[in-house]
Amino acid sequence: MRISLKTKLSLSYVAVVLLCISLISIFANISFEEHFKEYVIQNQEQRYKEIIASISRQYEEQNKSWRQEGIKNIGMSALEQGLIIRVENIDEQVVWDARTYNNGECEQIIANISKRMSEYYPNLEGKYIEKKFPILHDEIEVGYVEIGHYGPFYFSEHDIMFINDLNKVFMSIGIFSMFFAFVCGVVMSDRLTKPISRVIETARMISKGNFGGRSYEKSSTTEITQLTSTINDLAATLERQENLRMRLTEDVAHELRTPLATVQSHMEAMIDGIWKLDIERLKSCHDEIIRLNGLVGDLERLAEFESENLILNNTAFDITSLVERIVRNFENDFMQKGIEIKFKGESETIFADKDKISQVIVNLLSNALKYTPAGGKAYIHILGNKENIELQVKDTGVGISEENLPYIFERFYRVEKSRNRLTGGAGIGLTITKAIVEAHKGMIRVSSELGRGTEFIVTIPKSRQS
Ligand code: ADP
Repeated sequence: MRISLKTKLSLSYVAVVLLCISLISIFANISFEEHFKEYVIQNQEQRYKEIIASISRQYEEQNKSWRQEGIKNIGMSALEQGLIIRVENIDEQVVWDARTYNNGECEQIIANISKRMSEYYPNLEGKYIEKKFPILHDEIEVGYVEIGHYGPFYFSEHDIMFINDLNKVFMSIGIFSMFFAFVCGVVMSDRLTKPISRVIETARMISKGNFGGRSYEKSSTTEITQLTSTINDLAATLERQENLRMRLTEDVAHELRTPLATVQSHMEAMIDGIWKLDIERLKSCHDEIIRLNGLVGDLERLAEFESENLILNNTAFDITSLVERIVRNFENDFMQKGIEIKFKGESETIFADKDKISQVIVNLLSNALKYTPAGGKAYIHILGNKENIELQVKDTGVGISEENLPYIFERFYRVEKSRNRLTGGAGIGLTITKAIVEAHKGMIRVSSELGRGTEFIVTIPKSRQS
């Protein structure tokens, strides 16, 4: 069964409050009852003292007698409080006895208390108990009072009412808190689930191919902000990928159409006899086929290098001499274009895939060559420390604008299509370069300034990496 976040949250709020209220009620009841019992017992003792003191005041010293009316009043008021008293003189002769006065009422009161207490404390082993105290008048013993009641302690009707009222207060607080918790739960879950639902809606739109969809949820909840920005990042990546895919199809079609059309028209002209079949024309067709082949090769290599498990054939070799050899191969091209090329570096051994590292160097050098006009300079520098080697390829060429810089490593990204068509690039070289460097657990960085030049820095670990 699937339960919505809203229901779960609301119910958990209510459950937590219910638990808290129950625990508070249980502990408060236990502790309250203990204290209340103590209070009742202390009160009882206080009442004994008051009764004894009042009875003592009913003694008439002159004729050594008792005021019957006064004692009767004290006895009746004590009876109302559940105390049955019997007053005796010093010779232990009964002066006044509640039972003699009204035995029926005494029995009734004790029965009521006993019923009340057994209802409230079913396990309390209560019984009728009597205690006898001496009556002192001016420090002289003048008689005795026997006080009987339900024991060891008992609650009066007022006490029970007070306890019941308190329980009612607890119940009301509980019910109100639960209602309040439920409302809070609904409000809170609404605040949480509504933005999530809107983000889900955006994600659904994106999954249907609407990559332009973005979520503009503003929330103070960290996770929701993170979810929103992740969904937006995902949409942006998908949108970029989609654009790249569309551009790839467009580019590949365009790249293929021109040379194919040229070859086709040249061939048809020669077949139809419009053109004479000569070497020059065949060579032009051949050049176009070479270009086509190059493009297909690039596409193949891209598929290989971008596959997740690029296999490396690692060996230990001197990277400086490898770079030196490649620079020497390029020297002639740089010279012909009127670009000065400089190389600097001490011998450094690394453990890597030599062919793939060669590809990295060739790609960076050929870009420096392609994008540097005559009169420019190119510097290649190898640096090494304990862990890494650093290959710097710097040129004073056309540079890359800030807005294009973040995308140059992406597949088929070309800063200016027309410029690249002239230079022959398909926007794959740097994608391959980056894939190789990352497969070696290395890093490639670029800094560039439009019109001033570009610098690529490749860092590769020297150690034996898998
Ligand atoms: P391409 O095969 O088109 O050269 P790359 O992936 O090698 O593709 O490069 C991507 C884009 O980055 C190029 O289209 C080019 O505009 C830009 N770029 C790469 N290297 C340089 C450089 N050294 N100077 C200026 N622009 C460069």
